[in-house]
Amino acid sequence: MAKVLINEFAVAGKKVKRTYAIYGGLVPPYTMTFGSDKYIMPGWYKLDKDEDLPNIEDIGYYPYKPKKDNNLKDIDSNKVYKVMSSKGDKEYQVQMNTSGSLECECPGYGFRRRCRHIDQVTSSL
Ligand SMILES: [Zn+2]
Repeated sequence: MAKVLINEFAVAGKKVKRTYAIYGGLVPPYTMTFGSDKYIMPGWYKLDKDEDLPNIEDIGYYPYKPKKDNNLKDIDSNKVYKVMSSKGDKEYQVQMNTSGSLECECPGYGFRRRCRHIDQVTSSL
């Protein structure tokens, strides 16, 4: 849900100056007049009666960004990634298993459940 944040700074002898920013949500800021009321949208922030509608360009916009918890979502689950061994004489296949994590066919993975081939696939995404 979008939130309107207000920044106020007083200029000596003048009216308090306000700047606005929209945080979250996916709708860029816009302003709206509803009868005699003025709003900053999204977020339904009501401006003071004597306040002018701010310019849209002056309203900050920080849209909601879904946080990626891991980058494995970018992996095509049907794809087999081929990674060369460190000696360069062998090719190992890295593939997503049914539980959604990567598996490698090299002996190191068999022991440690992780290996540099998997690291190479995830870091290349
Ligand atoms: Zn491996």
